[in-house]
Amino acid sequence: MRTRRLVGSGLLFITLVLVGSFLAPAEAETPPERVVAIVPLGEVRQEFLEKVQQELQSRMKVRIRIDPPRELPQEAWYAPRRRWRADRLLDWLDEHPPEGAWKVVAVTEAEISATKGNILDWGIAGLGSIGGPSCVVSAHIYKKHSKTKEALLRRLGDLSVHEFGHTLGFPHCEEKGCVMADAKGKAISSADASSGRYCTKCLGLLPTEERALVK
Ligand SMILES: [Zn+2]
Ligand SMILES: [Zn+2]
Repeated sequence: MRTRRLVGSGLLFITLVLVGSFLAPAEAETPPERVVAIVPLGEVRQEFLEKVQQELQSRMKVRIRIDPPRELPQEAWYAPRRRWRADRLLDWLDEHPPEGAWKVVAVTEAEISATKGNILDWGIAGLGSIGGPSCVVSAHIYKKHSKTKEALLRRLGDLSVHEFGHTLGFPHCEEKGCVMADAKGKAISSADASSGRYCTKCLGLLPTEERALVK
């Protein structure tokens, strides 16, 4: 009698363990959700942030969140030209990353610059580190040179996809219409010639796991 009861509860135990092992793996094997954090630097219009969010969301199968704004860091201020060094902004973002973010897209309305060839301080629209964690886009040039708000937003959205593409590991690309075209110092005409999409050649550079994240 005693033995039979033991056998009985033993079977029940095995059944529970089996049920448990059928339920458990799906949960345990789900990789952590990838999150792209949009970080406003200084005061940035909500519609700019939402445009960047919407453009990235239309390309990527990851969560795109808008973080609270941060002050631009003094260490990136370039006093001789009264603007901000984009390379230093990226270093600073990498040193102070937003929690849980896979990639960071900083958005600002401030004027930004970087060294270009032998020009020490060249005004730019955006900068992204190739295969790195972060990029920055500025609405400054587009605000100055766009006749309509629609044009401004379209260019800003295109730029965001371009700089984000650098963080995915894409270099500049010569395929016609590819969003990764080199602006060659002409942020406006470059954004206007772009299809806004990564070409198949660019997408082919991605490892399978990340290719699956791009729409
Ligand atoms: Zn670029
Ligand atoms: Zn391309």
